[in-house]
Amino acid sequence: MTRLMNDPKRFAVEAVEGFAAANPQHLLAVPGGVVRSSASPSGEVAVVLGGGSGHYPAFAGWVGQGMAHGAVCGNVFASPSASQVRSVVRAADNGGGVLLGFGNYAGDVLHFGQAAEQLRAEGVDVRIITVTDDVASGPADEPELRRGIAGDLMVFKVAGAAAARGDSLDAVEAVTRRANARTRTLGLAFGGCTLPGADGPLFDVPEGLVAVGLGIHGEPGISEAPLGTADDLADLLVEGVLAEEPERGDGYGGRVAVLLNGLGATKYEELFVVYRRVAERLAEHGLDVVSPEVGEHVTSLDMAGLSLTVMFCDDELVELWTAPVDTPAVRRHLSPAGDRTPREISAAEVEDPVVPGVPASREAAAAVLEGLRRALAVARESENELGDLDAVAGDGDHGQGMVLGTAGAVETAQEVTSAGAGVRTTLLRSAAAWSDSAGGTSGALWGAALAAAAGALDDGEAVSPQRAAEALERARDAVLRLGGAQPGDKTMLDAFVPFVAAVREGVDRDGDLPAAWRAGADAAADGAAATSEMAARTGRARAHGNRSIGHPDPGAVSFARLVEAALRTTIPDTTQEDR
Ligand code: ADP
Ligand code: MG
Repeated sequence: MTRLMNDPKRFAVEAVEGFAAANPQHLLAVPGGVVRSSASPSGEVAVVLGGGSGHYPAFAGWVGQGMAHGAVCGNVFASPSASQVRSVVRAADNGGGVLLGFGNYAGDVLHFGQAAEQLRAEGVDVRIITVTDDVASGPADEPELRRGIAGDLMVFKVAGAAAARGDSLDAVEAVTRRANARTRTLGLAFGGCTLPGADGPLFDVPEGLVAVGLGIHGEPGISEAPLGTADDLADLLVEGVLAEEPERGDGYGGRVAVLLNGLGATKYEELFVVYRRVAERLAEHGLDVVSPEVGEHVTSLDMAGLSLTVMFCDDELVELWTAPVDTPAVRRHLSPAGDRTPREISAAEVEDPVVPGVPASREAAAAVLEGLRRALAVARESENELGDLDAVAGDGDHGQGMVLGTAGAVETAQEVTSAGAGVRTTLLRSAAAWSDSAGGTSGALWGAALAAAAGALDDGEAVSPQRAAEALERARDAVLRLGGAQPGDKTMLDAFVPFVAAVREGVDRDGDLPAAWRAGADAAADGAAATSEMAARTGRARAHGNRSIGHPDPGAVSFARLVEAALRTTIPDTTQEDR
């Protein structure tokens, strides 16, 4: 949906005017489009791109040193006219001939072709490259039937770099044709885009399906496939473009330029999730990725979807793809093939070290692991309920946060206990894993609590009931200190504080930790229930504090459930002194 506009008919023109105004160091607006705002060497081949608007940053965003000299900007999804093309070419021409590049669409072929004839009649040497990278739009042996989509980026980057290094028009044309012949794209869409001024998208994709082989002008896909996971879609894209990989050898040895392109309404994070798998799969195929790009390069207004482009490179295409470039949308300073020493860092070098524990401390570590496993099981059972409670006055993510946090802690505890860690190390590492995995306020507080508890324990000795009580007090104090809340503020502290008091009392009375913990868990449950009557005064829930009256605090409820679950853990017997 396009919400910000004046007259829909002037949308594309006004967008170009604003874009040029925003990029004076690169662009100068001329009738029909934009050209570089700085002079190019006399005699340099001019690369002029163009097509309809609605594909930002294509094409105006690619004007600048190392790429295009000018871009002809048509109306939304409509070819520019021949007179617009002529105007931009005249402004861009440096006397070295002109390469006109555009995607293979009937309207563009017609208007750019007409303009080329007229310019040739005026004495300008004009060559035409139509990009045909879209594998879904025609068979491999009839590339002239195929559309140009995100592969535009690679083909035109190569053209601009060849012109910048001083190649003749013949040479620029030849290498650009080769780039196009070596470039393949497959796209997927989840929903169509909406033209400015229209009130509905050009097409819909049924829920749970993905359109395969979309066009970038709101053309629906060629077929539909089940939506699947991000990895499934990555696999589909990789298989689609690699189906046409040329034979290796003879100039092509498996080096590929790669673009994972967002179509306008797909978030960068989503693209990165997909790219993670794409990179894995390309490596499995023995391909060496050169300067990948992940982001929006050829969009289709607000279409939800993405495409994968691969250019199968020889040495010269690698050189031109990685050459320095400075445009509003594409910038490369260093040639990545140049003088940079790659680093490798293993996880072991940067993670906290695992300190081996004595047997008694390892036994306590095993109890911690068991307790965390029980906590995870309870968090899973309570996930929806905790989420609903958090949604009353907070953001609804508490159940999810607890599951993620306990799961992360279990995974790490498992890893370090099998490596022989003692109880202090196990708690410290699980604490970090809990915060890392959970996010959110409660994740940070649980992480801080476990880490503080670890401070009272030792990898060199068993955990006595006294020590356990001290660890719990430290944990409670860390939450008080870090969160800045007090009992009565309707937080986890309303369960935590009575829990610790009861454990301390029981341990001091007879040193029976399981019995003391039992009393503590009961006190925590009572404390959590009592939060129903309170209004939240801290945390995310503060803004809607009164709304929470009548509902218990999610963090207090989860606390009570977790310590109840941990009660079923076998606590090592530390009364035997000989350990
Ligand atoms: P977020 O608030 O970041 O979404 P969660 O939803 O996972 O985090 O956790 C919310 C819970 O965190 C609350 O129910 C409350 O028990 C606890 N909490 C929030 N702020 C504090 C604080 N300052 N001190 C102690 N506990 C807090
Ligand atoms: Mg929350």
